[in-house]
Amino acid sequence: MNSQISKLVEAAQKARNVAVITGAGMSRESGIPTFRGPDGLWKNFRPEELATPEAFQKDPALVWEWYEWRRQIVLKAEPHEGHRVIAAMEKFFPEFLLITQNVDGLHPRAGNRKLIEIHGSINRARCTKCATRFELGSRVLSELPLRCDCGALARPDVVWFGESYDSNLLSASLDFLGSADLVWVVGSSGMVSVPVYLAAQARENGALLVDLNPEEAEFSRYCDIKIRGTAGQVLSEFWKALQ
Ligand code: NAD
Repeated sequence: MNSQISKLVEAAQKARNVAVITGAGMSRESGIPTFRGPDGLWKNFRPEELATPEAFQKDPALVWEWYEWRRQIVLKAEPHEGHRVIAAMEKFFPEFLLITQNVDGLHPRAGNRKLIEIHGSINRARCTKCATRFELGSRVLSELPLRCDCGALARPDVVWFGESYDSNLLSASLDFLGSADLVWVVGSSGMVSVPVYLAAQARENGALLVDLNPEEAEFSRYCDIKIRGTAGQVLSEFWKALQ
């Protein structure tokens, strides 16, 4: 067994409060492209051009069409073995929290309930006026841009570039991370700084930090255990070794 995985198993056997932070790389083995990787092109648009409040103001129909196109890809995808291991971890550790940057809903579909979707959900919309939230279901949305029952424009319920995070979700994440003893960061490049900030806070409070990614990232040097591999493969190996 990889010596880093043995180290991780040893740490997990002692851990009581465990957090996992996942980024887009987590969903790669379910066939969902990341934004920045070599296959990260999303229908010839750069996410920075469409996932913004300015883009929505300028052309809400275009932004909705792009989200609906992505949503249909996500709805056809299935959670992989790595998602299932993270769902099992929730039941295994006495205290557990999953903080995901992914908007695709694969973690709740795999069974996670102690979960913070810090960037929102692609399967939900929010009214720009009355702020009512509604689930989008599985049917293809044909009348876009979507409108709320109150008549105002609705928007995808996700955090766009340049927008602030929900402060309640941030403080709930920080609360948990304040007493975590083992924190994984899976499939995140660290380009979006808030999740890395959360991991750094946990480390300052004494948590052991695990970096799971096929590639070295800028923040990897702050991590105690570094595992180079894909989420599905490494999580399965870890779980078998832990049992
Ligand atoms: P990111 O910055 O989190 O980078 C992706 C990381 O995943 C890279 O470091 C890459 O090396 C790693 N990776 C690639 N394949 C992997 C694998 N099989 N296992 C583990 N790690 C792997 O993500 P991004 O694509 O630049 O997107 C930034 C943000 O955009 C995300 O945090 C998210 O909010 C959103 N986004 C969400 C989804 C989704 O919901 N699935 C997809 C794309 C982007």
